[in-house]
Amino acid sequence: MRERGSDGPVIGITASPRTTVVADRELRTEAVTEFYVQTLVQAGAVPVILPVHGPLSEAVLDWLDAVALTGGGDIDPTLYGQEPRPELYGLDSVRDRFEIDLVRKAIDRDLPLMAICRGHQVLNVALGGTLVQDLEAQRPNSLAHRQAEAWEEPSHSVTIEPHSRLADLVGPELVVNSMHHQAIDKPAPDLRPVARAADGVIEAVEATDRLFVLGLQWHPEYLGADHRGFALVKAFVDAARNSQR
Ligand code: MN
Repeated sequence: MRERGSDGPVIGITASPRTTVVADRELRTEAVTEFYVQTLVQAGAVPVILPVHGPLSEAVLDWLDAVALTGGGDIDPTLYGQEPRPELYGLDSVRDRFEIDLVRKAIDRDLPLMAICRGHQVLNVALGGTLVQDLEAQRPNSLAHRQAEAWEEPSHSVTIEPHSRLADLVGPELVVNSMHHQAIDKPAPDLRPVARAADGVIEAVEATDRLFVLGLQWHPEYLGADHRGFALVKAFVDAARNSQR
């Protein structure tokens, strides 16, 4: 058991593998944008990066106080029983397996979990739900969920369910950013949809029988500490602190 200091809870952030050019060589890299790091640090946490093409070790889970799932490419639809559509991009079956395993193990341990964008979709698939593979193709009347505005700018509002953790933290409505072409279709049995856009797209889910499990279809890390939704990041870090053993 490690010594718990005053540094704050340790939060594992899943990496998003990408190719980086280093000294004219293309190298596969396990990276996160610094927006995630800075947002968690501002909320009082100590972030560590979890390489998703590496092993998921029980020893690492023992050491974490919470887990954050990041954005990225699409999830392989065969994992929720569908044929892939042509609009899919960025499939990474190794990352899918790592993150699905991580979600299930974190929930078994009741580790606080915040799942952002792709992470929110991974959370749903890991627990038995399904996705809309492409909103523009499958729900052509939906809002512009791939916003033209800068990622730091909120672009559409979400209506929040009363009597939810989300409503307790941010109230009945929030304006968020939107950089996704997929969405939750059928929610997993243990997840409650708690926010929707005006077109009905599910924008947040909670697992009500856990200490803290929250999926967000938007990206709080780009909206910063002045956005009202930062209260969600702070509540997540507080839950992580309370779960420190
Ligand atoms: Mn959206």
